[in-house]
Amino acid sequence: MYTIDVERDEPEHVAELRRQLRRFVAEKAPRELRRRWDREHTWPRETFRELAAMGVCGLTVPEEHGGLGRDILAAVAVLEELSRVGPFLAGPFIHCAFYGGMNISENGSPAQKAEMLPKLARGEMLLAYGLSEPDIGGDLANVRTRARIEGDQVVVDGAKRWCTGADWSDYIYCLVNSDPDLPKRQALSFVLIPTDAPGVSMTPIEHVNLRYTASCDVHFDQVRLPLSSIVGGPERWKQGWRMLAGQALDVEKLEVAAITFGFAQAALEEAWSYAQQRVQFGKPICAHQAIRHKLVNARTRLEACRLMLYEATRLAHANLPCAIETSMAKLFIADTGVEIALACQQVMGAYALSDAYDIDRNVRDLLGMPIVGGSSDMQRNNLAGLWKLPG
Ligand SMILES: Cc1cc2nc3c(=O)[nH]c(=O)nc-3n(C[C@H](O)[C@H](O)[C@H](O)COP(=O)(O)OP(=O)(O)OC[C@H]3O[C@@H](n4cnc5c(N)ncnc54)[C@H](O)[C@@H]3O)c2cc1C
Repeated sequence: MYTIDVERDEPEHVAELRRQLRRFVAEKAPRELRRRWDREHTWPRETFRELAAMGVCGLTVPEEHGGLGRDILAAVAVLEELSRVGPFLAGPFIHCAFYGGMNISENGSPAQKAEMLPKLARGEMLLAYGLSEPDIGGDLANVRTRARIEGDQVVVDGAKRWCTGADWSDYIYCLVNSDPDLPKRQALSFVLIPTDAPGVSMTPIEHVNLRYTASCDVHFDQVRLPLSSIVGGPERWKQGWRMLAGQALDVEKLEVAAITFGFAQAALEEAWSYAQQRVQFGKPICAHQAIRHKLVNARTRLEACRLMLYEATRLAHANLPCAIETSMAKLFIADTGVEIALACQQVMGAYALSDAYDIDRNVRDLLGMPIVGGSSDMQRNNLAGLWKLPG
């Protein structure tokens, strides 16, 4: 059985974290549970509490707010390790450490930081991301969910689609238009909407990928909130574009790339091992050249993904500019993940289409990665702009 070497080029605390997490997921997320969670669109609450007790949710939270201090390298390594067993722990970890810890540390007001970060660091608070809408996918600056200030309240009306985890999160980190008369990028704000606020309603959406939960359609009907719900406080009203396109976006691209890398590793490890056990025409199928080449190509591509992910992570970790590297990593790893998925599916033949292995789930999840979290075409657009390609 081939397993990815975890200990190259890494600080000891990250390598040790990986060793602990590999033991943790092997014990807590065996295949029969993974299959059940996938069938039921759910994730294991108690196992997540045990994971949080290891302190990992504090990796995006400063020490003065109860975290371990911002350690993007370790946080990305945690995501990679968790996603090797699917989205069932990696998903909630993102809702806590990235949607929550990362965004509130970067953009929260002092009061929001004091209130939310200690809970996020302990894994006791989860946020859902409210960006997409029924008529808005990649074109986020055009969101139509409307928020206006009335006296000492913010009033929100509109709808979000694909708001994953809205049904169990504490808040929706919600992108709104706060002035339709202004140019669109000057009109955006973020608001923290409690999921149980009067006027919030939701319905689940069925989907084939990332089945740690159902995603949600969410409606806001005259949702009234105190001004302190504006992310960053009232003085950050209409500064949402800077928050959307800032450092948190770079880390968001890394986070999607990291789970893609984890899914692709799991797919390849399973196919690599299967090809040595499955005998056809008197020899293991890995001895047939067509299968050998598929596996070798996939492993080579996977290594390229690793290098791109951790080069971009190294820059983000060091607070260096990394918009280009994180976009390249998201684009390359998502697209290469599809190639790896399809190669592994071919290697495993009919069994890749059954639920006897993890490959069917990994293929479903990998096929979605060039779409979610900023599509591959949107990354190409970003990169063409960042490289100032006329057009
Ligand atoms: C399981 C799941 C979970 C999700 N969770 C969340 C979540 O928690 N929060 C959230 O906010 N969203 C979430 N999403 C939404 C996801 O991020 C969007 O699907 C994604 O941003 C793409 O939007 P879209 O599918 O509407 O594509 P569209 O923007 O409608 O684009 C459709 C196609 O056209 C291409 N295209 C569009 N515009 C251009 C252009 N200018 N140039 C080139 N090509 C273009 C796109 O690349 C894509 O291929 C989730 C989606 C899924 C499936």
